[in-house]
Amino acid sequence: MTKNVALRLSYEVKRLQLKHTWTIARGSSDFKDNVIVTLEGSGVTGLGEAAPNIRYDETPESTIAVIEKAKPLFEKQDPWEFVELGFAIQALDPAQTAAKAALDMVLMDWITKSLGVPLYQYLGLAKAKAPTTSLSIGIDTAEVIQQKVREASEFPILKIKVGMENEEEIIGAVRAVTDKSLIVDANEGWKDKQEALERIEWLISQGVQLVEQPMPADMLDETRWLRERTSVPIIADESVKTAGDIPLLSLAFDGINIKLMKAGGLQEALRMVWLAKSLGMKVMLGCMVETSVAISAAAGISPLADYADLDGNLLISNDPYLGVSVDNGQLILNDDPGIGVKPRGRCSVSG
Ligand code: MG
Repeated sequence: MTKNVALRLSYEVKRLQLKHTWTIARGSSDFKDNVIVTLEGSGVTGLGEAAPNIRYDETPESTIAVIEKAKPLFEKQDPWEFVELGFAIQALDPAQTAAKAALDMVLMDWITKSLGVPLYQYLGLAKAKAPTTSLSIGIDTAEVIQQKVREASEFPILKIKVGMENEEEIIGAVRAVTDKSLIVDANEGWKDKQEALERIEWLISQGVQLVEQPMPADMLDETRWLRERTSVPIIADESVKTAGDIPLLSLAFDGINIKLMKAGGLQEALRMVWLAKSLGMKVMLGCMVETSVAISAAAGISPLADYADLDGNLLISNDPYLGVSVDNGQLILNDDPGIGVKPRGRCSVSG
């Protein structure tokens, strides 16, 4: 097919300031540098975002290298063959999924904006089924955790980061100020299965309803042992990136946390949703620290999720974009075409 749409791909790095120093079992940070990607053509501008994660050997520089590599693809290939173009994007690099997520996102935003329909509508999804999102509380002192819990008063579900051997202190601090639903994320923090089981049993006694990634990704047998002995769903996060990981994980986990940044974009995330569902697994949609661009893209497929943890834009104080909103924790999708995002104010583009 002859390509008859002239497209221009560009990018810029945005420094996102975190409202609170973010600490999880892996480390701490005060800001995050994400890469915003723009695709212009036929009077339509699409937006995409990459949130590079050092856990997966990603940096803004490695992300930009893949975006540069993608420019000829967008110049040569017909964007309307977006499945084909999506495969070509996935083939750009064996890893670097955040960069590929931005490229696939900007493509799908451009396609659905060109069609004049919101992403969720294009996919045939019910906007009213967008789930309630949890709000994540990072590891901190008891005083700061309690302050964060108070700031999260509108959210009915809190996701508490644990896995640093002081969860009794953390959960105790949370429980001193709220009795709302809790889920926990150990971020691979527990290395011994018996100890992990004891910690989970105690967490269940505190009303915890779900545990994310209790053990390291390479401890699948131990996680399977753990799951056979626990009554709450055990969800894979660091263990799962793309659809190919899911069949094996179905033996050890009750569900998977799908993130656009791990999957490499919306098209792969959708393949993961269908595969997980066909294996009887629960689907959580998660995120990294992201602006409203990537969060709104994920929210566009959130009517397919059992759980949503799409709070990355709520953890930053300088989100340059407006998109999906939250009402008492419920994700509210707007009716704007595409992923439904616009710049909050003036927005420059370079690269
Ligand atoms: Mg997680």
